[in-house]
Amino acid sequence: MRLTFLGTGTSHGVPMIGCRCAVCTSSDPRNHRRRASILVEWRETVIVVDTGPEFRLQAIDARVDRLDAVLLTHAHSDHVMGLDDVRAFNISQSGAMPVYGSDETLAEVRHRFAYAFREGPLGGGKPQLDLREIAGPFTVGDLDVVPLELRHGPGVVTAFRFSPHDGGGPAFAYATDTNGVPEAAVEALGGLDLLVLDALGPGPHPTHYSIAEAVAMAGRISARRTLFTHMSHALDHEATCASLPPGMALAFDRQVVLLGGRVHPPQRSASVGGLEYSDNDWRTLLDDEAGDLANAATDDPRRVIDHGGGQVEGAVGRTAASLRSPDELHRRA
Ligand SMILES: [Zn+2]
Ligand SMILES: [Zn+2]
Ligand SMILES: [Zn+2]
Repeated sequence: MRLTFLGTGTSHGVPMIGCRCAVCTSSDPRNHRRRASILVEWRETVIVVDTGPEFRLQAIDARVDRLDAVLLTHAHSDHVMGLDDVRAFNISQSGAMPVYGSDETLAEVRHRFAYAFREGPLGGGKPQLDLREIAGPFTVGDLDVVPLELRHGPGVVTAFRFSPHDGGGPAFAYATDTNGVPEAAVEALGGLDLLVLDALGPGPHPTHYSIAEAVAMAGRISARRTLFTHMSHALDHEATCASLPPGMALAFDRQVVLLGGRVHPPQRSASVGGLEYSDNDWRTLLDDEAGDLANAATDDPRRVIDHGGGQVEGAVGRTAASLRSPDELHRRA
């Protein structure tokens, strides 16, 4: 399974408009955070979770050429306001885009994007949205998806657990925008290879986990690895990662995580801060000593290994101290 962090920032994004704090003015690209979203790929299936205001830029950046479905966690602006841009996929794929969400989320989508549901000429001007209300586990192509309801302050957010439809393979869950994982959900999130969990900042917040709360919850859920997302400008990437327990780290924009098995999508490249990076530079492979990642390791000699020391060693760019040549990494492994 291949995960691409399209965005790892809170609703303001980082840098925040007009802010001159150390994180907002940092030259570390891992401190530049677009609005939270993730791309999930397994075999031929491509899913995006949330389409925030930067969806178009994120899709271009990550070279998302086709898309099987959009999954929405909830209808806050930072998670839905880019939905109109699925128009490009409507054209290239000649059809409406399946959009999954809770009844509450889809009601808000109908309200905010009312023009899309009005009678009238389609032209290129209206997104074609095939709204699919989530009523329980569902399947998109090669992926089984289990929805879980979590608390988001006074509201509710949908988290998603992904696993291969044909059984086996890695299990991954995405749980953003939450400050409460009910007991039943903690149980349903057992046995994960990777958990992505909300962690907004250093202090308590009415609708998001703080770092300390997120670490505590991640400890209870006990995935093999946990990456945090939806961070504010109050968290510096490197300093925060250094303070986290083993197996936990902050995610960062454009981070690619490979979980088990060969992945089909072709190599991609991206532009970060005006510099071009190839796929190899921003790939993170979560190594698995138990062996279920053996295929990926064999198939991909350029692997970047996480030794499990608490930071996912990943690669963001040539300025990052952690970046070593693929050969060097391979030798170290
Ligand atoms: Zn949010
Ligand atoms: Zn700032
Ligand atoms: Zn929210």
